[in-house]
Amino acid sequence: MTDIERLRHSTAHVLATAILKLWPEAQFAAGPPVENGFYYDVDLPHRISPEDFEKIEAEMKKEIKANHPFERVEVSRKEALEMGKKGRLAALSDRNHPSKFKIDIIENIPEGETISLYRNGDFVDLCAGPHVMRTGNIGAFKLTSVASAYYKGDEKNPQLQRIYGTAFKNRTQLDEYFAMLEEAKKRDHRKLGKELEIYVIDDDVGPGLPMWLPRGGAIIDELEKLARETEFAAGYQRVRTPHIARESLYRKSGHLPYYAESMFPPMEMKWEPGEVAQLETIEKNIESRRDRVADMQKQLATIEANPRTEDILRRAKELRGEIAAHEIEDEKLSGDVERVIGRQRYYLKAMNCPHHHKLFAAVPRSYRDLPLRLAEYGTCYRYEQSGELFGLMRVRSMQMNDAHIYMTPEQFETEFNAVNELYLNYFKLFGIEKYLMRFSTHDPAKLGQKFVDEPELWKKTEEMTRNVLKNSGINYVEVPNEAAFYGPKIDVQAWSVIGREFSIATNQVDFAQPRRLNLVYKDRDNTEKTPLCIHRAPLGTHERFIGFLIEHYAGNFPLWLSPEQVRILTIGDDAKLIDYSMSILKELRAHQVRAEIDKSTDQINGKIQRAEQMKVHTMFVIGKRDMEAKAVSVRVHGKGNLGAKPRADAIAEILQSIRERRAS
Ligand SMILES: [Zn+2]
Ligand SMILES: [Zn+2]
Repeated sequence: MTDIERLRHSTAHVLATAILKLWPEAQFAAGPPVENGFYYDVDLPHRISPEDFEKIEAEMKKEIKANHPFERVEVSRKEALEMGKKGRLAALSDRNHPSKFKIDIIENIPEGETISLYRNGDFVDLCAGPHVMRTGNIGAFKLTSVASAYYKGDEKNPQLQRIYGTAFKNRTQLDEYFAMLEEAKKRDHRKLGKELEIYVIDDDVGPGLPMWLPRGGAIIDELEKLARETEFAAGYQRVRTPHIARESLYRKSGHLPYYAESMFPPMEMKWEPGEVAQLETIEKNIESRRDRVADMQKQLATIEANPRTEDILRRAKELRGEIAAHEIEDEKLSGDVERVIGRQRYYLKAMNCPHHHKLFAAVPRSYRDLPLRLAEYGTCYRYEQSGELFGLMRVRSMQMNDAHIYMTPEQFETEFNAVNELYLNYFKLFGIEKYLMRFSTHDPAKLGQKFVDEPELWKKTEEMTRNVLKNSGINYVEVPNEAAFYGPKIDVQAWSVIGREFSIATNQVDFAQPRRLNLVYKDRDNTEKTPLCIHRAPLGTHERFIGFLIEHYAGNFPLWLSPEQVRILTIGDDAKLIDYSMSILKELRAHQVRAEIDKSTDQINGKIQRAEQMKVHTMFVIGKRDMEAKAVSVRVHGKGNLGAKPRADAIAEILQSIRERRAS
């Protein structure tokens, strides 16, 4: 637990104390710290609403002012249960009703684990801790919202009220946090995405399936161009793969059945004629084997019933061996059946890796071909629950800045380093100053369940990854037990300029999938080896990354990314003036600049206002005097009027700023 998490969790105890002072019958469940705050789940006949917050906060303040120490007491399971029965857990005193959720929690604590209670004032709670020293250490707090939640997240369990709050070391930090939230509301990508005509989610197309309007399409083009250029220079090669694949591919890759819940349900296709025949052959084979095995079992039974000579015993042993061999064969055959059946079903791809692995396997590879870097802005589909969908951040279709790098173990460090460099360069380009890499590792106790059972490879790849992170001086934390099934994983969190946190990219080391899909290369000694694979997506998905950028820039994109880079506004509609303006428009477009002309008959002020509203980066305001001087008056969004410039200079500056991808 970090310091701030400890502070916030301690505040949850103080919240429970206050609620009990007002409603002594309250039953508490869990009260952990969460991102940006804490909550406590409570079961209470009174429905707590934000109108109650003032009253609850007043009680909390009293508890903080009393400056009670948080005292830890270790108890036996029996003692803890007895207190629970008397209603004394998460309570101020003994009560008529048992502390039902706390009793359930105790019963789920593994045998032999220490059970501890924490006391602040009269309030005693079952808790592993840790907490701050005294309630007075809580500097500033605020209750923020109330929601409902099922006990343990299971809808079969009772519904509880979840009271959210946040806490900080001092008032200033708390105020800054709420000011940031206010600013974040203004920058909300859902609000700006609509106002600036970037994307739309249409109910007939489907929830979680964003469509990009031309302005969004322009941003996408720029990001893909950036990725294409950067990756080309770094030795990547581009590939293209379809959006769907047969079930058999995902069975081989291991995504099915484990990942099925995150995928759209399959499309059932008609059988191909060849496949029906294949299936019939396998089935016939299985049947005839069954007959033979039944026969052998009969023979074996007869032998076992008869007096045993050496010869007969040998025959029995042979028969048993044969029967066992047949069982193994049967299993293989039923696998074949499944594979053939799996060829009838198609899935929308939820990840690009299996397709790319197939491209690796499509051509014989030698160590000389490695590292091989295959890149694609691939479209993936994931079935997020409708309750989880959120603007561009949680969607069901996504275009991913994906690439898979296949390499020998000796090449890992260099390749991984290069990937990190790529991240850092992108961060610099987008003005991301604060970021964190979360390096998720495996838990040896969960090998074979949560993590593929390759203890040596886990150790080796995690060590290699850790070394690269350490040596490169990148800001990272290590999180045990959160790796992907296939290998250690790095999630990148970035903070926008106003301090809002986003998870935007991932980076994963994979030593299992290449093996499952039989990817091999011929090594120097002519033996076949399995390559290591890095999955990386520094620009994440267009959806999430553009969502982030909208909020990061508050819609004021730098020129190179701006959906509309230049708008030409004429003062009046004199025919010669229009001709002059059209020639500028033509010149800009010939240089691939996204330029428009305002053809309305509005006054110039109205035209400027409309362009500013759409956050058009640069405006060329053109009056008669500009035309006569072969000039334009330049106006930049957020900067105002920059005065008249020769037409050629103004255009040259625009082109240079775009070419250099300048930050403003
Ligand atoms: Zn606690
Ligand atoms: Zn991948």
